[in-house]
Amino acid sequence: MTVDECVFCAIARGQAEASTVYEDDAVVAFMDHRPVTPGHLLVIPKAHAVGLEDLEEGLGARVWRVAHRLARGLRRSSLRCEGINLFLADGEAAFQEVFHVHLHVFPRFAGDGFRIDADWRLRERAELDVNAGAVRAGLAAPGQEGEQR
Ligand SMILES: [Zn+2]
Repeated sequence: MTVDECVFCAIARGQAEASTVYEDDAVVAFMDHRPVTPGHLLVIPKAHAVGLEDLEEGLGARVWRVAHRLARGLRRSSLRCEGINLFLADGEAAFQEVFHVHLHVFPRFAGDGFRIDADWRLRERAELDVNAGAVRAGLAAPGQEGEQR
């Protein structure tokens, strides 16, 4: 998919319909058209990035800042909001469906029906330590640019 075909780029350019709640020079936020709960927002960088791998960290921080403000706005709105989830699906295996990185911000309340199924069993320390080592190795791997900023 090219940038020209990307629906979120079209929204960022003002060329596709969206119910926008926030916009600045780099970030736009609008209502998800298939909301988990009323008030479900998507926050996107205006510049096209497929996922976290090609999202510049400073821009990612700006997306987060807007999401944080929107969460406060939801808490103070008339919408039912007893809690909030921030959710980012990075990659098809993580249920990403639109391949322009986006951060979900949505109100939660008792009985809202949202759920994530997983194997939540407690794990042994040895297994956690092995996995921590794998992540540390990933942080040190070539192409990891997080430490330069
Ligand atoms: Zn895009």
